Amino acid sequence: MLQRCSVILLASVATVFTVSARPSIDPRAEIAALIRTSGADVAVAYRTLDGEDELLVQPDVEYHAASTMKVAVLIELFRQARAGTLSLDDQIPVVNQFHSIVDGSPFALDVSDDSDAAVYKRSGGRMSYRELADAMITVSSNFATNLIIEHLAAENIQKTAVALGAPGMRVLRGVEDDKAFQRGLNNVTTARSLLTLLEAIAKGRAVDEAASREMVAILERQTFNDGIPAGLPPGLRVAHKTGAITRIQHDAAIVYAPRPFTLVVLVRGLDDPKKGAALTADITRAVYRAQAVRPAGVAGQTTLPTNGAATTAQLLSELIRVDNSNPPGHERQLADLLAAKLKPLGFDIEIVPTPETGKAHLLARLRGDGSKKPILLAAHADTVGVERDKWSVDPFAGLVKEGHVYGRGAIDFKGGVAVFARAVMMLAEHKVPLARDVIFLSEADEEGAPYNTLWLARTHWDKMDCEFALNEGGWIIKDEAGKVQYVSISTADKGGVGIILTARGTSTHSSMPRPDNAIFTLNKAMAKLADYDTKVQLTPATRQFFMTLAKTSAPPLAGHFRTIATSSDAAAIARADKVVSKDPLIHALLRNTIAPVLMNAGFRGNVIPGSAEATINVRTIPGTDPNTLVEEFQRVIADPRVEVTLANQGLGLPPSVPSSEDTELFRSLVRQARATFPGAEVTPYLFQAGTDAMAWRSRGIPVYGIYPYPITADELTRMHGNDERVSVQSLEQGTQMIYRTLVEIAGKK
Ligand SMILES: [Zn+2]
Repeated sequence: MLQRCSVILLASVATVFTVSARPSIDPRAEIAALIRTSGADVAVAYRTLDGEDELLVQPDVEYHAASTMKVAVLIELFRQARAGTLSLDDQIPVVNQFHSIVDGSPFALDVSDDSDAAVYKRSGGRMSYRELADAMITVSSNFATNLIIEHLAAENIQKTAVALGAPGMRVLRGVEDDKAFQRGLNNVTTARSLLTLLEAIAKGRAVDEAASREMVAILERQTFNDGIPAGLPPGLRVAHKTGAITRIQHDAAIVYAPRPFTLVVLVRGLDDPKKGAALTADITRAVYRAQAVRPAGVAGQTTLPTNGAATTAQLLSELIRVDNSNPPGHERQLADLLAAKLKPLGFDIEIVPTPETGKAHLLARLRGDGSKKPILLAAHADTVGVERDKWSVDPFAGLVKEGHVYGRGAIDFKGGVAVFARAVMMLAEHKVPLARDVIFLSEADEEGAPYNTLWLARTHWDKMDCEFALNEGGWIIKDEAGKVQYVSISTADKGGVGIILTARGTSTHSSMPRPDNAIFTLNKAMAKLADYDTKVQLTPATRQFFMTLAKTSAPPLAGHFRTIATSSDAAAIARADKVVSKDPLIHALLRNTIAPVLMNAGFRGNVIPGSAEATINVRTIPGTDPNTLVEEFQRVIADPRVEVTLANQGLGLPPSVPSSEDTELFRSLVRQARATFPGAEVTPYLFQAGTDAMAWRSRGIPVYGIYPYPITADELTRMHGNDERVSVQSLEQGTQMIYRTLVEIAGKK
C-alpha cells in the first residue's frame, strides 16, 4: 500500500518519472519541476504519520549526512539513558581533544569552523548530556556532538539506526576528523532512512514515548529555520534538524500539521546555501499544499481487489495503517476514520474525547424502535507496540499476503474492530428493521492505560448502557487444514492481585556481611515460590471448555483433559495437570498463577541494604479472596523475616462476575457459531487475562467475549508478537456469524 501514492524518481541523465493516475492536486510534477530547474541533486522523502500518503524522490541514494546524523546520535543518547548506561544529568568533562578513526591520532575542533561558540567557553569544565544534546541539535554544535559520540561509541549509534529500520544512516565518526574525510570515511544518510528515524521519534517508538517527547521538544527548539519551516504556515509546530557543509543543504522534520507528517529534503551541488534552503522551502510548500486538501482518515483506499462493497479484510487493512500503538494510542484517528464510514449509513456518532489529546472513544448508534434495550459491540482501537526488526513485513502497512491480512492488531483487536464494524454496517446497508439500538464502540486505552472503558463508564455510562455486550475473549480455533475445532465464548475474565514480599535484615558495610542479608532472605522466599504451584480450581465454564478439549484433542491429551474435567481422584487430576499444564495457557486456566514482575533491592556497591522487595502478579480465578492468597504465600514462604502484603494499586483488577449462559445473546451466539462452523464444538470459557469487559460485568451486564475469526494455534502465538495475521476468509466468516447474531437479537421479529 505504501507504494500506492508514491513515485520514485530515478536519478539518471534524463530523470525518469513513474507517475500513477492521481487527481489534480498532485505535488509530484511541481516538485520534479522545482528540482529540475534548481540544477541540484535532490532526494525527498515525505510520509504522513497515518501512512496514507507518501512521496519519494531518490529515497535510497546516499548523501553525505552532514549534521543530520545528529538525529541518530540523539536517539542513541536517549536509548543509553533509558538502558541505564548513563544519565542525561551526568556531567562530563568538556575537553577539546578527539581521536581520528583512521589511526587514533588526536585532533581538536576549531571554534571558527563550528556553528556555535558556547560549548568552547565551557572548556575545562563539565556539562551535562542534556545540555550537550540541546547544543548539538538546536545550534548544531560540533563540539557537543563529538563529546557525546565519544561516550556513546559510533558503532552503537549505527546499531540503533539499523534496529530502527534505518540502515541507510551510517554514523562512523564525529565531526571534523580530517584524516577520515580524506579517505572518504564519511557519515552518510539516505532520505528514506532519515525519514524512518524521524517517524520513530514521532510515533514514540525510537526509545519510548517519554524519550520521544523530550527529543521532539529539543528538535522543536531548532534555531536554523530557513528550510522546511520557511515553507510552512507560521505557527505550525516543526521538530527538525538541518545539516549543511560545502555544497550540501539538508533538512529533516516532523511537521505537526492537521495531518502530521515527516519530510526529508537532501540537497547536493548548490554553491549558495541560501538557494538550497529556498529550494527546500519550495518543496515543502508544494507538499503541504497538496496534503492540506486531503481530509484525515477518508483518504485511505486499499490495495485489495475490490468487487463492489468493501470487505472486512479491506477495512482491517485500512485500520492497521493507523498506528495505534499504546502509548500513545492515537485512538482519535481511528475513531475519525470509522465515524466517516458509519455516519453516512445513518449511525448517530459520538466521539468522546479523554483528557489526553488524541485519545478518544467512538460510540456509533444505529437506532431501533426502542422496544428492547440496546446491544453493544465493544472493540479496543489501541494495540501494543512492535519490535519492528523482528517482523518480516511492515507492521503498519495492512499488507495482504497469501490470503492473510498482516499487521499489528490483526488479531488483537483491530480484526475485531473490523468484524464488529462491518457487521453493524451490514445491518444499515441491508436496512434491517431493529427492535433495539445497536451500539458500536471503538475503545481507547484497553492495553493498560487510564482512559479505558472503566473511565468511560464513570463519565458516560448512559451512552454505553445496554442489555448485553460483545467483546474480545474466546477463540475460534482451526487446525492447519482450516477446519474449525472449537469456538470458545468467554463469560468471565480472570482477575489480578499484586502481592509484595519484603525481606528485612541489617543494613551495613558490604565488607562485613551478616547472616541476615535481606537479599538472600528474599531470594530464599522467591525460590520457595518458584517451586510451588497453586491448586487446580475449575469454574463451570473451564470444566465445559476442558470437556470440549477432550473431544477435539488427540489421545493421550484428550484423556488428560477428560480426567481434569470429570474425575474426583485428586492423584489422577494431579498427574493429568502435570502433563497438560506444560502449555502455559492451560496452566493459567486451571489456577491462580504466580508471576514475579518487579524486584527492588540495594542502592550502591558497598552497602548491604536493610530491605529487599519483590512484587508478584497473581492472576486469579473468579471468587479468589486476596487475603487468602496472602495467607497462602505466608504458609509457603514460612519465614517471619519476610513480610507478605497486598499491593495498593496498579496491579489489581476487580473481581469478574461471570456472565450468565442463560441469555438470548449467548444462546444466539452458540447457534450462529454452530451454523457458521458445522461440526465445531462450542463452549463457554474463562478468559485467562483481564479485558475491558469489567466496565459492564461489574454492573451486572453480561458480556460475551470472542475473537471473531478462526485462527490456528500458530497464529495465536503471533498475537502481541511478530507477524500478527488473520486470514481474509476467517474475517468474512466471523463477520457473517456476528451479522446473523445481530439480526437474530436486534432485528424486529
Ligand atoms: Zn485485546
